[in-house]
Parts: sequence; structure tokens; C-alpha cells
Amino acid sequence: MNRFWSDITARLKPYVPGEQPAGDAFLKLNTNESPYPPSSKVNSTVLDFSLSKLSLYPDPDCKMLVDALSRRFNVDYENIFVGNGSDEVLAHTFAGLLRQERPLRFPDISYGFYTVWANLFDVKTEVIPIKSDYSIDVDDYLDIDAPIIIANPNAPTGLVLALEDIERLVSGNPNSVVVIDEAYIDYGGDSAVPLVKKFQNLLVVQTFSKSRALAGTRVGYAIGQAHLIQALKRIKDSFNSYPVDTFSQATAVASLADDDYFKECCDRICKSRESLTHGLINLGFEVLPSQANFVLVSHPDLSGASLYNELYKRKILIRYWDIPRLQAYARITIGSERQCKQLLSELEKIVA
Ligand SMILES: *Cc1c(COP(=O)(O)O)cnc(C)c1O
Repeated sequence: MNRFWSDITARLKPYVPGEQPAGDAFLKLNTNESPYPPSSKVNSTVLDFSLSKLSLYPDPDCKMLVDALSRRFNVDYENIFVGNGSDEVLAHTFAGLLRQERPLRFPDISYGFYTVWANLFDVKTEVIPIKSDYSIDVDDYLDIDAPIIIANPNAPTGLVLALEDIERLVSGNPNSVVVIDEAYIDYGGDSAVPLVKKFQNLLVVQTFSKSRALAGTRVGYAIGQAHLIQALKRIKDSFNSYPVDTFSQATAVASLADDDYFKECCDRICKSRESLTHGLINLGFEVLPSQANFVLVSHPDLSGASLYNELYKRKILIRYWDIPRLQAYARITIGSERQCKQLLSELEKIVA
């Protein structure tokens, strides 16, 4: 503890993001970014961008982007909140909606940031172990009358809950907010956005960082009924009125205008995921059935850390966690077709 720090600063347990090495010496399969570039429409938007716009503050309401999102998801403006990456949207959700008398319930194996925000915002938590097959038991979340946050597909397992299960969860807790973090929903699962009209307590959070290849622009959003969106706006306007810069708003709008390319990239990732899974199983790996752009894998002869170290020596970055339930596992982002081949050929040498 430094004598200049506040109590809060001393208490924090910050999230540790995956490495972002300088240069391109490494094949990055560690942070679930897209191996493909953003849409060419994003490229032309960047080239045509008028620098004079940067002397003004950005639109605090992100109206152009909200308009594009409202058309894409068939919801009204009042149902959309945009933030600086879904991380910021989720952080506001913890402060504005999930901090309640009843403890927030979420799975023990999930997005690591949830415990960090709970700690930052003094949110009481009740962490529920996932099952031995690493799936979430929806029954653990029924009729608890407490707020819930679930990543669907879950991270880092990649396992998805069916939309009926999400609906059971939401309808089973009508007096508490249920947040579904859909950072990876475009790779196979069914989005809960269509349920928003029916349920007052459902908030769905998505991002441009993964399936839209825009991690560098930091844009995320939440969709829910107006009273939930208002809570996020109240928090935002008590913290930073202009979280999404002009440039980022423009690139996100351009990305939404190119649905064909978006779908093509998602399809390619799903195909690569199937062939990579097949290749990994042939090398003796166990692979959890993923509906995301990553796979959680284990091998009888290697811990997650040793797999990481072996691949690091070969200039490939993946991710592992030094926690008991994940010790045997490592998470590998699905790269391009060529990158998956490169990974498999290095792994072949490692497990030989
Ligand atoms: C990547 C990720 C996010 C955060 O994405 P942003 O880049 O902040 O939009 C949120 N939730 C999960 C589960 C993620 O994996």
C-alpha cells in the first residue's frame, strides 16, 4: 500500500488482459481477436474521415450508431446504450444495475472481469461452480430472485446455453436483472436480443471487438428495455459523457453496413473451428465443444501452462489460467485457415 493511494486502490484486484506484444513476431491466438481485417467499408470510412471533425467533441448519444443498431436489431433508440467497449458497458451495468441487496450470481468459470468489477463497485457475489462437464446448470439460477450475469457462449469454455434456457433464467427471476454477455454470440449461439421486448429484466450486451474485427476501436453496446438503458446512461453521464470517440463511432457504423462480409468472416471462423477441433483431437487433445471463436483444450501430457510455454517458444501466443479448475486447460483463439495449420504443425512437434 502506497501512502498516496485511496483505500479502494489498495483493495483492487485488477484484471490482467492477454499480452499485446509489439510488432508481429508472434502469432496471436490469445485474445480472441479476429484474424481478418475489418470490412472494406470501414477502410474507406477511415480514408475519407475528415480530421476537422476531431476538433469537436463526439456525439455523446452516438445517434448514427444507435440508429444503425436499432435497424439491425429491430429495437427503438431508447433500447440501446453504446459504450467504450463492452467492458465499459458491463462495468456501468455492475454499478448501475447489479449492485443490489441480493448477491449477484454467476458461474465460477466465466469472464474474469466479473469478479474485478464486483470488487471495484462493492457488489456482493455468489459464485456457482459449473458442472463437471464445464456446462452451466440453469437450475442453479432459477427462482433465486437475485441479479445474474452469464456469458453466452461462456468464456473460456465456449459452451453455449440454448435460448430456451436463457428464457427460463430470465422468466425465473422477474424481479432481478439478468445480464447476458454475448461477446461471442455471432459464432453459433442464438442471441437473446429478441427476448428483450418480452422481459423487463433482461439486458443483452454485445461488442464490435470480436466478430466485427474492431477490437482497436473499443465499441460495445447493451440492448434492453428503456428503464435499464436509462440506468446505464445515468452512470455514464456521471462518469464520462463522451466515452466513444468520433472515429470509433464512424467505423462501427461502417461495419454494420457490410453484413455480407460480417457473415462471411463468421462462417470462415466456424469452419476453421471445426477443422481445428478435428486436428486437435487427432493429436490427442480433448476439446470442449465450442460455439465461440476459441477452443478450450487439454492434453493428457501437458498442463495449460506447459502448453503455453511450449507454444511461446515457437512464437505462438495462447492463454491459460493458473486456477485449480483450469490448470489442465489452455484457450486457443481460432485464427485464419493458414494460422490454424501453423498451430497444428507446431503442436504436432510438441506432443510427438
Ligand atoms: C472480449 C470480451 C468482452 C469485452 O469486449 P470489449 O472489447 O470490451 O467489447 C466482454 N465479455 C466477454 C466474455 C469477452 O470475452
